[in-house]
Amino acid sequence: MARTTYIAGNWKMNTNKADALALAKALVERLKGKGGTYMIGVPFVYLDAVGAVVKGSNILLGAQDVAATANGAHTGEVSTAMLKDVGVTSVILGHSERRHEIGESDELINKKVRRALADGLEVVLCIGELLAEREAGEAEQVCAFQLSAGLAGVTEAQLKRVTIAYEPVWAIGTGKTATPADAQAIHRFCRDHIAKLYSRQAADDIIIQYGGSMKPENAKELLAQEDIDGGLIGGASLKADSFAAICEA
Ligand code: PEP
Repeated sequence: MARTTYIAGNWKMNTNKADALALAKALVERLKGKGGTYMIGVPFVYLDAVGAVVKGSNILLGAQDVAATANGAHTGEVSTAMLKDVGVTSVILGHSERRHEIGESDELINKKVRRALADGLEVVLCIGELLAEREAGEAEQVCAFQLSAGLAGVTEAQLKRVTIAYEPVWAIGTGKTATPADAQAIHRFCRDHIAKLYSRQAADDIIIQYGGSMKPENAKELLAQEDIDGGLIGGASLKADSFAAICEA
């Protein structure tokens, strides 16, 4: 089955309200009528306002994290119910900045994945190895572990609402990109690992994005690889021109 191309932007802790609204408005215009799936991962405080801008467009509203627990006494947390209340359909989980800066464990990420899926959200689950792990020849092992741990307890039916983002940590925000051949090799490995965890059909259907300094200049070659079905874009998602150019690639 042909997989749709899925390009997601991760705005991280960037923009202010005016810039967020202007960026969202520009993207709605630029992506109007284009095929494929598009999502923007917006800072929590701007989700409501940006949601009003993308409503009715072909751009999905995404959050960059969610609580593992339901509403209640959890100071500072944001629940799935709150996200859905403002129109969020998708959530980015397991991003390397949350794994390595905040210290999120695979166990916590898995709880968030299961919570988001149980409550009807779509998940982009990020995985990827550190530079030292790649140099030690452990990239596949790390990805396999993060996939197995992140998806523990997720049913094959729920997996239809999961996208995997392979993001080698050494390529995020550094300007370094995996070569298309290296990225393709890991994507194929991850797809085969999904086949082992679920089924060949599930593996063939799942969308696997590449993330790590993807930009208009390298997007075409990366997206041309057989097992690279889209991108999770950080820096280049903050300008309508560069994000739209990647979507057009
Ligand atoms: C990311 O943070 O998901 C990412 C891929 O960032 P960048 O595109 O800036 O490398």
